Amino acid sequence: MKISEKLHQAHSGSTRPPPATFSFEFFVPKTSQGVQNLYDRMDRMYDLNPIFIDITWNAGGRSSSLTNEMVYTAQSTLGLETCMHLTCTNMKIELIDEALSKAYKSGCQNILALRGDPPLDGSESTGDFKYAKDLILYIRKKYGNHFNIGVAAYPEGHPEEEDESKTLHYLKEKCDAGANFIITQMFYDVDNFISWCAKLRKIGVEIPIIPGIMPISTYAAFIRRAKWSEIKIPPHFLEALEPIKDDDFLVREKGTELVSEMCQQLIESGYVNHLHFYTMNLEKATVMILEKLNLVEAIKSHDLVGGTELPWRKSLHPERSKESIRPIFWQNRKYSYVSRTATWDEFPNGRWGDSRSPAFGDIDLCASELLRQSPKRAYELWGTPGSLKELSDIVISYLKGDLKSLPWSDGSVGDDTKVIVDDLVELNKRGLLTMNSQPALNSIKSSEKIFGWGPKNGYVYQKQYLEFFCHKDIIVKLLQTIDDYNNNQGDASSAIISYYAVDLKGNLTTNCNDDDINAVTWGVFPGEEILQPTIVEKTSFLAWKDEVYRLFSEWRKVLTSNLADVKDEDKKNLHKFEKLMTEFSEDYVLCNLVNNDFIDSNSTLFNLIYGLDLQVLE
Ligand code: FAD
Repeated sequence: MKISEKLHQAHSGSTRPPPATFSFEFFVPKTSQGVQNLYDRMDRMYDLNPIFIDITWNAGGRSSSLTNEMVYTAQSTLGLETCMHLTCTNMKIELIDEALSKAYKSGCQNILALRGDPPLDGSESTGDFKYAKDLILYIRKKYGNHFNIGVAAYPEGHPEEEDESKTLHYLKEKCDAGANFIITQMFYDVDNFISWCAKLRKIGVEIPIIPGIMPISTYAAFIRRAKWSEIKIPPHFLEALEPIKDDDFLVREKGTELVSEMCQQLIESGYVNHLHFYTMNLEKATVMILEKLNLVEAIKSHDLVGGTELPWRKSLHPERSKESIRPIFWQNRKYSYVSRTATWDEFPNGRWGDSRSPAFGDIDLCASELLRQSPKRAYELWGTPGSLKELSDIVISYLKGDLKSLPWSDGSVGDDTKVIVDDLVELNKRGLLTMNSQPALNSIKSSEKIFGWGPKNGYVYQKQYLEFFCHKDIIVKLLQTIDDYNNNQGDASSAIISYYAVDLKGNLTTNCNDDDINAVTWGVFPGEEILQPTIVEKTSFLAWKDEVYRLFSEWRKVLTSNLADVKDEDKKNLHKFEKLMTEFSEDYVLCNLVNNDFIDSNSTLFNLIYGLDLQVLE
């Protein structure tokens, strides 16, 4: 969606006055691990409900493909409305065309059109456009109104132009060329900004003016950035920060206070209803300001912004616009799900049903993309577990919140797991490596903080789901126990507990029919058909199985091919780890269980497993 439309929507709600909204700028990191870490951060910051995020462009096109790639991931996988920066200095038209075409295909509808800084050696730009205005005209000519276009502005002037009236005039030219919104350079002088806005309005600039806000994290960075951007620092900032400049903690506290006061004044000026944060790829300093301004809660409780449409993150890629259903297996691996289904020309909506997915794409991700960690980081995070016990300890540490990810889980354990976490820990202690789960829910308000999703005034439901990886002998006993349990419950033709268990070769044991589709999450909302966004079914489970075994084998490869980083004492463990991985591929089975009685307590499934009297691993 276009930023100007989103802003209009957010500020014309029924609550008066609507709360100020906000957005976050991120720059392109230098390493691929940095990119993965940034995605995790962007993913977390999604929960703050920014109106949009934007990704910078390296002038001249260095790392341009990474900007495009990040825009694609932010839109498609993270569901974040994204604005792509694009500079024209030293950029040939072909490169600009390529960047715009990739942005277009990603479903990106917002471009911040910039000139970029000229080459540092003082040479002339070899680009096809001289000023940002020329780029705007070109985008409009080529794409009509497809893109919302933003432009940069400098309330304290641009270093290359001393005459203020000329700077204002050039900005007006950019607006007349087709810009839809303005984002300013960072500043701390509120009075100057307010009088600058008045001047802009006077010369007929009507579009939204979005102030660029730079949080203060350390004194040195604060002074350096202000100097580099050639902006004034008001005396009261210096008076408050200079005496505490050596204490980063105090600087951030005081800086938060000062910048929050400044934001409050901007909002009260009447020129501003949206704040744009230069996050510098960090989270804390920006979040502290938002909390101080009380904006996070205000936005969440506001009618028109926020509220998750579905229990999983909806993609903003145009081809996925109707997607309303996903298998539960990739619940904690959205990157690989989006990647493996990227070529589908139709996404299932409603029940999986007739429009059953075409084949899942091959897992053509490289090891570090698949594990989402560089070899070095994978080793730092998970070490070299030499036994099932050591591996289960890693999973337990993840479940307790001490570890932030697992090879098969992209992010931290969710709050929704807390209800059953003690039982999950017990299963891991007994050699069942838990991979995914959800507790049962019966009629929970859709507005409830942890489990709620979908439109307001609805109710959501879940069947208990449990997925784990364990030795085939345990599976044989467990499935027999479940069959007995189902038989004792009466009608054997529709099992109360359904299961799928599969080994590496694809030998499947199940009590479900081939084309069964089991909705394990659903919601009932006023005036709408029942939504069933998460399912369990055979075809996708088999595709997921391939990924799980592949994850183990890539993990092994990553560690064994990266011996330089592995400490000597861990090297001894490495061959045990390899042996364990071989055992996994020969003797271990991936299994999932669904308790279809969603009114039943969560303990039924666990009690059936405890009934097997499995030994706690030593
Ligand atoms: P322009 O508007 O083209 O202005 C450039 C200079 O030319 C100014 O001095 C202006 O006064 C002058 N000028 C404009 N039109 C005329 C004219 N018709 N005749 C004579 N002079 C004229 N840089 C990056 O490399 N990557 C980024 O991602 C990036 N993001 C940014 C985001 C924001 C919000 C801001 C404020 C800046 C960003 N920059 C980025 C920096 C920006 O590229 C530089 O400040 C650059 O020097 C100016 O870009 P511009 O788009 O404002 O250029």
